[in-house]
Amino acid sequence: MGILLGAIADDFTGATDLANTLVKEGMRVVQIIGVPDASAAPENVDAVVVALKSRSAPVGEAVSQSLEALRWLQSRGAEQIVFKYCSTFDSTPEGNIGPVADALRAETGADCAIICPAFPENARTIYNGHLFVGDMPLHESSMKDHPLTPMRDSSLIRLMAAQSDAEVGLVPLQTVHEGADAVCNAIATLAAKGIGYAVVDALNDADLRVIGAAARDQRLVTGGSGVATGLPESFRSRGLLGAPAKASAPVVVGRELVLAGSCSAATRGQIARAKEAWPTRKIAVDRIAAGDDVVGELTDWALAQHDDAPVLIYASADPEEVQQVQAVYGVEKAGAMVEEVMGALAVRLTAAGFGRLVVAGGETSGAVVSALRVNALRIGPEIAPGVPWSESIGTQPLALALKSGNFGGPNFFEEAFAVVR
Ligand code: ADP
Repeated sequence: MGILLGAIADDFTGATDLANTLVKEGMRVVQIIGVPDASAAPENVDAVVVALKSRSAPVGEAVSQSLEALRWLQSRGAEQIVFKYCSTFDSTPEGNIGPVADALRAETGADCAIICPAFPENARTIYNGHLFVGDMPLHESSMKDHPLTPMRDSSLIRLMAAQSDAEVGLVPLQTVHEGADAVCNAIATLAAKGIGYAVVDALNDADLRVIGAAARDQRLVTGGSGVATGLPESFRSRGLLGAPAKASAPVVVGRELVLAGSCSAATRGQIARAKEAWPTRKIAVDRIAAGDDVVGELTDWALAQHDDAPVLIYASADPEEVQQVQAVYGVEKAGAMVEEVMGALAVRLTAAGFGRLVVAGGETSGAVVSALRVNALRIGPEIAPGVPWSESIGTQPLALALKSGNFGGPNFFEEAFAVVR
């Protein structure tokens, strides 16, 4: 049997977040990293999420990768496609959300596609078509200063209209509160007028579930991970999806390793906590730059530690130290040097008996999975909001918890390993 739902995410941690949402709603989910190989054939799976790096890629590349992913998902039976972007609608007036959505809409034959980046759990809500971050409209939030995609407007209607070929309409909160049929009718009315997108208001999970039910016949749904909350139930109500499957934790033998490349406050707090209990080592960026064999030394050190506790290796530093390092080597070079070492450590240490890895940092996670040549993950149970365990497929089996820097409470590392012991 083929898959029911196919998703295309414009970045890696966004894909994991969406996959995690679908797993919590009882779907069996595989995440594929990059456009899937023609031969990839995930089995016993209800949904596949393809993780692209298309958010800040050149527009043409983002569109062509997304279409390739779409065709692969359709060839595996996906009836409905979710295009997942950030809950703060990260994009520029050129895209990439508009052009990718236009291409997906044309190829799927969708008439009017939902736009709903609301993510109430993280305080992203939509009212009268305006996107709010907490109590602020998007264009007043810290997103106004984002280095790549500064958001200077909060009207999703204007933002989308500027980057898309189609007209954009609104389904207001009042209609959402009238229920799924009312939302369906409102979208059909917009479609009949030739309007290509419907921004749908949502303030909470109950609203998102109404939208999920209303989306049952929509070939294309676009938004954040929140809009997917109600989709599994709509398949279930049609008898297409069985009773909720409970995701089982990966059963992988092997020692426990944390690689932390995120410099976020949350990750630094988690490292401070772990230092009290476990052997830890810090990577010195200067020594990487000097050409020292940092990877060899840290590998030997890790292997010399007792195997009854996790080992933690980190590059994370406070903002002052990061600035100093960046002033010497440049932002990109500093990041790339650390990421290369993280990838190499993951390769050496998994070859030497480490099998359960927690990786802190979005870019760091990307570097680690690519060095390990992992291109598909079966998504397991949630550890903390937005962060699941996963198990690599098709390579040496590894248990991987890949977390965006700011996610998880102070005891995240310990909580993570407790799930797989
Ligand atoms: P987050 O999810 O918190 O954004 P990322 O892994 O995406 O974390 O980004 C952190 C970036 O900072 C990575 O490119 C990493 O290599 C880099 N980095 C880590 N430690 C240092 C350091 N001490 N100095 C400079 N850059 C660092």
